[in-house]
Amino acid sequence: MNLEELGWNPSFEADFGEYRQRGLSPGRIACQQKDLYQVYGVDGTMSTEVSGNFRHNARSKADFPAVGDWVAIRPCPEESKATIQAVLPRRSVFSRKSAGARTEEQVLAANIDTVFLVSGLDNEFRPRRIERYLTVAWDSGAAPVIVLNKADLCTDIGARLEEVESVAFGVPVCAVSATEKQGLDALESHLGVGKTVAFLGSSGVGKSTIINALLGAQRQEVRAVREDDSRGRHTTSYRELIPLPGKGLLIDTPGMREIQLWTDEDGLRKSFEDIEALVGSCRFRNCAHQKEPGCAVRAAIENGALDAKRYRSYLKLQREVRFLAAKQDQKAHLEEKARRKEFGRMVKKMKKDYKKG
Ligand code: GDP
Ligand code: ZN
Repeated sequence: MNLEELGWNPSFEADFGEYRQRGLSPGRIACQQKDLYQVYGVDGTMSTEVSGNFRHNARSKADFPAVGDWVAIRPCPEESKATIQAVLPRRSVFSRKSAGARTEEQVLAANIDTVFLVSGLDNEFRPRRIERYLTVAWDSGAAPVIVLNKADLCTDIGARLEEVESVAFGVPVCAVSATEKQGLDALESHLGVGKTVAFLGSSGVGKSTIINALLGAQRQEVRAVREDDSRGRHTTSYRELIPLPGKGLLIDTPGMREIQLWTDEDGLRKSFEDIEALVGSCRFRNCAHQKEPGCAVRAAIENGALDAKRYRSYLKLQREVRFLAAKQDQKAHLEEKARRKEFGRMVKKMKKDYKKG
């Protein structure tokens, strides 16, 4: 594959300029296994690790390469392992808060152009969930496409489409049946050479079935990489950045599937533009939409223009986002404190050394 087929474009080339001058070459992360990254480059797949310098300079987990990242590589034939020197700025990022008491951003995938938000048209149909996924998608920087799968199990697709369109202004919606191979052309119209797509959606909605339908016959062999690990044993890992010959690439990482909310108020606003507009026309700026006179939100709920359930899901999401933001602030505060302490210690030591010497 050439770089364009891997998703390279002039704006990545511009960011890469300084690295090219240093004799580095570009590559794209296909998968990660502990410290080992498989990277696609012009010469095929390489096994790489981040350089010592990279590790030293990384401030957080989010600075490390993730699937879909473009990286600057120093080939190292004598050691058979190339090293990653830098990660190029990301055009889109999907992340989640990593497990544990510390709130830390963990990047699941990067540089996704289009994200398919998959839901089932069976009795698992939940427009509220589509709303949440839309918020995540807007926040990532990727363009969302809503995919309603299992159309074969639905007798009233028209009504469902209307419900979805009422929560997703201007976002393309495709109804498909992955098992019956119906409607897949509409999905393929969002693919293209050099474009990267990913799938989001709850377990059981049919993401794997759709992916396998798009991959056709090739499936597993394009995903598996056999590697000798450091002890010389054979291990098999699965590429999560998968080329679809002539149609671009798809990213399928386990974490993406169960993505948690890691979004900010901008993403929230974008998904709830209608409610934000109403809030703006309440008579009082600090309206709590309870009993205040001239409340546009309550009026809209009363006259049916705004679904009360949609309003509740907006409030719920708003609380989550605020909670998360507060947690992030607290973490930043603690880090700043630690940095100051370290700096103070360093100054003390310098003074002491100065006196001695
Ligand atoms: P994932 O967890 O989102 O990857 O979902 P899977 O692809 O594993 O699909 C879950 C189940 O739904 C499987 O039993 C599939 O056969 C079934 N399924 C997937 N797509 C369709 C569809 O279009 N129609 C119907 N009736 N079943 C489907
Ligand atoms: Zn109000």
